[in-house]
Formats: sequence, structure tokens, C-alpha cells
Amino acid sequence: MSQYPTLVLKSGRDRSVINRHPWIFSGAVKELPKANTGNIIRVTDNQHTLLGYGFFDPKSQITCRIFEFTKEERSFDHTYWTEKLTAIHTWKTALFDPKQTNAYRLVHAEGDHFPGIIVDIYDDTAVVQILIKGTENLKDEIGSILLNLGFSYVYFRIKQSTGKLEDVAEQSHWYSEPRSMPIEIIENGIRMLVDVKKGQKTGFFLDQRENRRIVGELSKGKKVLNTFSYTGGFSLYALAGGATLVDSVDSSAAAIELCDENVRLAFGDAPHRSFTEDVFDFLKKMETDYDIIILDPPAFAKNARSVENAAKGYKNLNLQAMRKIKNGGLIFTFSCSQHIDKELFRKIVFGAAADAARPVTILRQLTQPEDHPINIFHPESEYLKGLLLRVG
Ligand code: SAH
Repeated sequence: MSQYPTLVLKSGRDRSVINRHPWIFSGAVKELPKANTGNIIRVTDNQHTLLGYGFFDPKSQITCRIFEFTKEERSFDHTYWTEKLTAIHTWKTALFDPKQTNAYRLVHAEGDHFPGIIVDIYDDTAVVQILIKGTENLKDEIGSILLNLGFSYVYFRIKQSTGKLEDVAEQSHWYSEPRSMPIEIIENGIRMLVDVKKGQKTGFFLDQRENRRIVGELSKGKKVLNTFSYTGGFSLYALAGGATLVDSVDSSAAAIELCDENVRLAFGDAPHRSFTEDVFDFLKKMETDYDIIILDPPAFAKNARSVENAAKGYKNLNLQAMRKIKNGGLIFTFSCSQHIDKELFRKIVFGAAADAARPVTILRQLTQPEDHPINIFHPESEYLKGLLLRVG
């Protein structure tokens, strides 16, 4: 007898589980396990053949998130979680030369076959986002493994809204000794400051690392507008790449403050202006001689219901930029909404181009970097889409 309660699926050959999709929706369940939210459960088909183990949540639409597909009875002790995290750590750290880049995503939830948890590394500090009760139950375990892997500090970052949604009770806190803020990181050789306590998400948007590098490569002699700049990631690369002027716009005063500090840290004095302002207001009255415009808004579609309004927002944003950019200019346009896929995003940008009535070509299709892997069985883990457009 297994120590774990069993969830039985309706089907003998549940297509999504056979295809290793980690989510079991409530409609697919024949028999619920006798378990509490967050417990580890066994999952079997209707013939009682074991398919894998996952985290149970009877209140969520996603009744179970599978973290281990296996035909063998297993138990999940400290050794299992240590091996799981160590294996990810080994291949992720091999991606980067720490002298060039010491900030990366160590665990990308389902993308790394570990649902319910995100771990971002900023030099000596691991910032953990707990997304479900199942991983909240493993918190201390995960904290101690991260310290054993050699990180000096571990911070648990808990979002209030996530707490309500998925029954996570905790507040943000240090698992280790507290560390003073900000942390100075290095990314593709560029130094910048990150505040993991006060910053957005885990402190920084690591998923744009490679796209920032492309901006840097194309910025020589250019006038660049970085909208939704946050702490100036794209702006720093543009300046390092030889831009003649870079403007950063963000509505968050704290983000702009850190953006200015980042520019000072990296360059001392640089041709940079910052604006604490709503991007939509800025675009209405902006200058029309930018060579490069970056559009990296927050996720406009937080859920499936808001896709239509979000699409309008993305279209409007792209339309303004296409209308005003200099002839021959480049637009880096992004969407990080999970609910807007690549095809829909391209249709939205097409709509903007049609309304702008200017020649627009796609030079590159952009995505998330390799430390944010896309689980091939879980298309939802592909969330960042971007296009590099030429207008004119
Ligand atoms: N490009 C950034 C990440 C952008 S995150 C990077 O590479 O690090 C989205 C940013 O948009 C946040 O900093 C948020 O403060 C800002 N924001 C959200 N809505 C905004 C609006 N209407 N106008 C200006 N900034 C906005």
C-alpha cells in the first residue's frame, strides 16, 4: 500500500496525462483522493495503473499538478527533493559564465517539471516564489536545499493575490539571515541593482536577458525609447551599445529611481532621460525621431476573460509606436500574457500595422531564454513572445 492517497481519472487513456501534461482538471477526475489541499497524491487511470504523483488542490480548477511521471511506487523525502533541485541546478549553472551573468531563473515551475514554484538567483541570493499550497508545504525543505547548494541567502516572496487564489497563507520573509538591499548583479557583463524585497515579481525581469542583448547590438548611433522600462534593463544595454540618447518611461517612481541609479552605476554620466509617466500619455505627445522603440508592457491579460480588452491595449500601444517611429525605425514589441499566444499576438500587431498604414516587416521572432525553458508537454510555459519589426 502506498502512503499517498489516490486520485482516479475517468479515462483509461487520458490524453493529456499520457502526453505528460502536468495539469489534471476537475472534469477529468472520477474519484477524488482522501487528502487535503497541498498533499502529495498518486494519480492512476481508471484501470488503477499508476501514472504519476502530484500536488492536490480540490478548490482549484486544476485539481492536481503532477511533478513526477512514473510507473513505479515512490516516496518523496528529503533525498528526492535534493536530487530534483540539484539536477536542475547542475544544468542551469552550466549555461552561464558567472563573471558575465550571475542572475538567472533556477526553477521555472512547470517549465522545469516542478509546478508551483519559481526560483530566481541574484548572485548569492535565491528568491523563491511559492505559487501553491503543495510547494508551501515544502518551503523549509527547499530553503535548506538552496543553502546547501551554496546560496548564502534565501528569500520567500509571497504575493497576496496568489495567496488568495491558491490558498497560500504565508507572508514574504527571509529563510536565511536577512541580506541588505539592493543586490548588485551582472548580466551579459552589465552591472545593475536589484531589490528583491521592494521590486516587482522577484525583483527583476530575467526573461528579457537575450532580447536586451539584441537591443544593445542594434543601438549604435541610435535614439532609443524604452517604454515600461522598469529599472532600465533595456536602457542600460542600449547605452552600452552606443546609443546617442535613451529615454526610459515607467509609471512607477521606485522603478525610475532605481533606473537612474543603474545608469549612474554603469556609466556615471550618460545620454539618458527618465520619465515617471503613464506610457499611453507619453506616446500621445512623444517626439517622432526615435530610431528604436521598445514596448514591454506588463501582462494585460491576467486571465482568459480579459483577453479582448488586453488585445485592444496591445493594439493601441503598437499603433502609436508604428505611427510615430522614424522611417526605417525598429520596434521591439512584447507580450508576456500567458493567455495571448504567439498567433494571436501576431494578429494584434498585424491589426496595428494595417491601421498605421505603413510598411512593416518582421526581422526576428523573440522569445524567452533557455533558463526559462518551455516544457513541450505544457505549452502554457511559453509565455513571452516578441517581434522585432522594421517600419518603413
Ligand atoms: N522591460 C522591463 C520590464 C517591464 S515590466 C525590463 O526589462 O526589466 C512592466 C513595467 O511596466 C513595470 O515596471 C510597471 O511599473 C510598468 N507599467 C505598468 N503599467 C504602466 C503604464 N500604464 N505606464 C507606464 N508604466 C507602466
